[in-house]
Amino acid sequence: YVRAIEMAGGLPLLIPVCGEELIEDYLDSIDGLLLTGGDDFLPELFGELPEPVECEFEPERDHFEMALIRAAWERKMPILAICRGIQGLNIALDGSIYQDLAYAGLDRIEHRQREDMKLGSHPIHISDDHLSELLGADIVVNSSHHQAIKRLSPEFATAAVAPDGIIEAIEHESLPIYAVQFHPEALSHKYGEMQDIFNVFIKMCEVK
Ligand code: MN
Repeated sequence: YVRAIEMAGGLPLLIPVCGEELIEDYLDSIDGLLLTGGDDFLPELFGELPEPVECEFEPERDHFEMALIRAAWERKMPILAICRGIQGLNIALDGSIYQDLAYAGLDRIEHRQREDMKLGSHPIHISDDHLSELLGADIVVNSSHHQAIKRLSPEFATAAVAPDGIIEAIEHESLPIYAVQFHPEALSHKYGEMQDIFNVFIKMCEVK
C-alpha cells in the first residue's frame, strides 16, 4: 500500500490504532484515507450474532476504524478502501457483510485463492464507467476474502460484481469514494493497470 501511494506521487502516512480523540487531528494531517486489508469485523458492528464460522478479529482496530471512517465521511474526504476496507466502509455506513461466504452457501467461486496474490483468480464485471475506463469492463482479479458485502450501504452503488454475484467494487454517486474487494496493490501488471487506481486516488486527494 505504501509503495503504491508513493508511486502515485502521494506521501504515505500510517495511522496507528490509537485513542479516538486523536482522529480529527489525524484527518487534519491527510488529504485522503486509504483503508487497507486485514482481519474480520465483529458481527456486533452490523447487528448480527456470531455464526459458527472461523474468524479472526481485531476488536480495537474495528472500533477505531468505524470512528475513523465516519469522521472521514463527515468531511467528504477522498477514500480508497481495499478488501477489509470495503467491508468496513460498508458497515460504518449502515451496510452488513456475510460472515462467511461458504457458510452462506455462496461457494460457487473460490474467493480465497491459494496462488500468489500477484496472480488473478476470478473474473469481475465492472459496470461503473470511470472504473471500467481505467481497468477495462471485464478483468481478472485476485481474491483473498471469505467475507463480502451482504446488505449494501444506502450511501453506495455497486461498481463491479463477480460471476457469482458477489460485490467486488462500490462507489459513491458524487463523492470521491471508491472501494474494491480485491487487492490492486498486489496484482501483477499483466492483469491490468492496477497502479492507476492509486494514481486516480492521489489525483482526487490533490483537489481542494
Ligand atoms: Mn473475490
